[in-house]
Amino acid sequence: MAAQLSVNCNKFNKKARNGEDQPSDHYDDFAVVEANDEECAVERVDRLTKTVTQFQKHLRERVSYYLGYPANHNCEHYLALSTLLQFNINNVGDPFKESDHGLHSKKFEVGVLDWFARLWGIDKDEYWGYVTNGGTEGNLHGILLGRELLPNGILYTSKESHYSLFKIARMYRMDCETIASLANGEMDCDDLRDKLLINQDRPAIINITIGTTFKGAMDDLDLVVKTLKYCGFSDNQFYIHCDAAIFGFVVPFLKQVPKLTFKKPIGSVSISGHKFLGCPMPCGVLITRKRYIDMLSTSIEYIATVDTTISGSRNGHSPIFLWYVLNIKGISSMLNEMSITVVFERPPDREFIHQWQLQCLGNMAHVVIMPHVTVEMLDRFLCDLVRKRNIWHGIRQPRCVAEDIGICNCVCSVHA
Ligand SMILES: *Cc1c(COP(=O)(O)O)cnc(C)c1O
Repeated sequence: MAAQLSVNCNKFNKKARNGEDQPSDHYDDFAVVEANDEECAVERVDRLTKTVTQFQKHLRERVSYYLGYPANHNCEHYLALSTLLQFNINNVGDPFKESDHGLHSKKFEVGVLDWFARLWGIDKDEYWGYVTNGGTEGNLHGILLGRELLPNGILYTSKESHYSLFKIARMYRMDCETIASLANGEMDCDDLRDKLLINQDRPAIINITIGTTFKGAMDDLDLVVKTLKYCGFSDNQFYIHCDAAIFGFVVPFLKQVPKLTFKKPIGSVSISGHKFLGCPMPCGVLITRKRYIDMLSTSIEYIATVDTTISGSRNGHSPIFLWYVLNIKGISSMLNEMSITVVFERPPDREFIHQWQLQCLGNMAHVVIMPHVTVEMLDRFLCDLVRKRNIWHGIRQPRCVAEDIGICNCVCSVHA
């Protein structure tokens, strides 16, 4: 009866949307149609497969024109993880606390968090963090920590910061000072100074953006710290949250911008996992100082873990995707200042070495950028290397080459 009803409804909707006798449009392909006598199981599966295949075609076409949004669509390598989709994995609760819920991927999650902690210069026993549902959740968590540490604090954020910051100010009912920005999109620290000086009697919770959503500008962390000191704010009167959603992965490769590190007086960093890293589902990472998190922890008996996160149930797949992509992305390499020789890890494949005529020495290989070498040729080489590396590392981790090319250039699991 219910099935019959839904069929009728569907027919009705078709008419209503298309006018009288037009053939079905794209709306109908996505209607949920319950089982009915007119369609056998095989036809049904065929119909669903056809819709999904068509949708895949549509996505492929849209990806080839994808220019204005900050998300990476090189996602093919994630197909290697598709068999995990048959499991419903949930990382509910604190990533560092075992819970009775066995279907979780917290070991992967902690591996990913350790990696980010290293990237942002904070020791393993000093940091806390978790894999979030995206950049907004990381901002929610970071600003909440600031607010709990400095309950009377004012939130300062530039007018070009992400819309989530203004939403967070409303959600937490925080006083918020919007700081002007320079023409390039970066926070105007003169305006920050003026506003801090007016509010010297209240603590400052500052959001700085590493890669603004529209202009891709970076707030100057060092100048913000200098401005706070100039205005007489001591270390326990301010909290800095860094929204590094987009550029968190760009900054480590730039010498010209202030380094993002917990060696500086920052409280938390948030990054998106689906933007630069191209994780196929929204996710992100939040890292903070361990000592801050104790004030937020509440023990929840029936999940037998500690409630330290914004979300309750958390995606157990995304930490595995992040772990996977971080493992296959890095290539150990070095380039001497002023040199034309790029040294990198020796490919574990005779045929590849022969094809690209690489010179090898011990654990190292190199390419020499002579005048006949074109960008096109290097692109082809790199594509081939990255593709084959995915296959090689399906079986083993990249070799440690720290002794050959220096710890800072090695991406093995110990040094990355
Ligand atoms: C995209 C973005 C966010 C929010 O990230 P979501 O993953 O969409 O929640 C936060 N800050 C900046 C600067 C962003 O560009």
